[in-house]
Amino acid sequence: MATIGFIGLGNMGGPMARNLIKAGHKLKAFDVMKANLDAAVAAGAAAAASAAEAARDVEAIVTMLPAGEHVRDVYMGKGEVIKTATRGTLLIDCSTIDVETARAVNAAATAGGHEMLDAPVSGGTSGAEAATLTFMCGGSDAGFKRAEPILKTMGKNILHAGPAGNGQAAKICNNMILGISMIAVCEGFNLAEKLGLDAQKLFDISSKSSGQCWSMTTYCPVPGPVPTSPANRDYKPGFTAAMMLKDMKLALQAANAAGAATPLGAAAQSLYALYAAGGRGGDDFSGVIRMLAGK
Ligand code: NAD
Repeated sequence: MATIGFIGLGNMGGPMARNLIKAGHKLKAFDVMKANLDAAVAAGAAAAASAAEAARDVEAIVTMLPAGEHVRDVYMGKGEVIKTATRGTLLIDCSTIDVETARAVNAAATAGGHEMLDAPVSGGTSGAEAATLTFMCGGSDAGFKRAEPILKTMGKNILHAGPAGNGQAAKICNNMILGISMIAVCEGFNLAEKLGLDAQKLFDISSKSSGQCWSMTTYCPVPGPVPTSPANRDYKPGFTAAMMLKDMKLALQAANAAGAATPLGAAAQSLYALYAAGGRGGDDFSGVIRMLAGK
């Protein structure tokens, strides 16, 4: 079992850290929010006074931070993680951030003598609690092999997407598909209502026809057909519209930089932005069905 530095103990990082402790790893934890650090200490982690302290004398470091600017700051800026960690430390950033920052931080880590992976996750807070996350990893084969046993204590599917930044690329492509497909499913159910077609009937038929997709069969945006979907609890998240908007923006930013045409991605981003601007950013993203129905 390893000694691991864990930085960023929020909604995702908190339960991920607990699963590492449960598996027998020793954790040196740090978060700028005292309440989140206290919760990790209560679960068995040792408190570090700074990111640098969490990075000192450990075999691996896991970060789970809000956005690219925080990741840059923790590794290359005030956090001084790259500078402080012992040469050869394995650095794993699980935050969802832009591809460019992921590649820049990886290059700095490599120059500092470390092995680094970008390893964003899918599966949400319930997946973090249950240790069933999917990790999409970017980095070297050697780094992936070293990270695998650590990631397996927090997740179920550990996938290697290619070199540095490709984990983030996989994550934003996946979430752009999800964001677009959810709107398509919402429009289908709204049209069905206008045509006098029962939502359950559309679900029964479409889930066995070519309209079938995850947004329909696992996360159905109308109450009834899939009892566990957020539609059955007044669109309490789940995955908030604000988070979806963040990921859509990352996808569109990457598409603009790479010259990829993503017109539906752009339209979907505008719709989630409109939904969030109406004060619904904290609702589940599937609640966009109500806005599309003019409700
Ligand atoms: P969160 O805001 O709950 O947690 C982030 C934590 O980082 C907070 O505790 C915050 O205090 C801490 N932090 C910020 N700056 C810091 C710094 N400089 N040093 C130390 N700690 C710092 O966010 P979350 O929901 O846990 O999400 C974390 C990441 O995971 C995000 O990139 C998000 O996009 C991604 N993600 C979230 C979900 C989800 O369902 N919540 C799903 C998949 C991916």
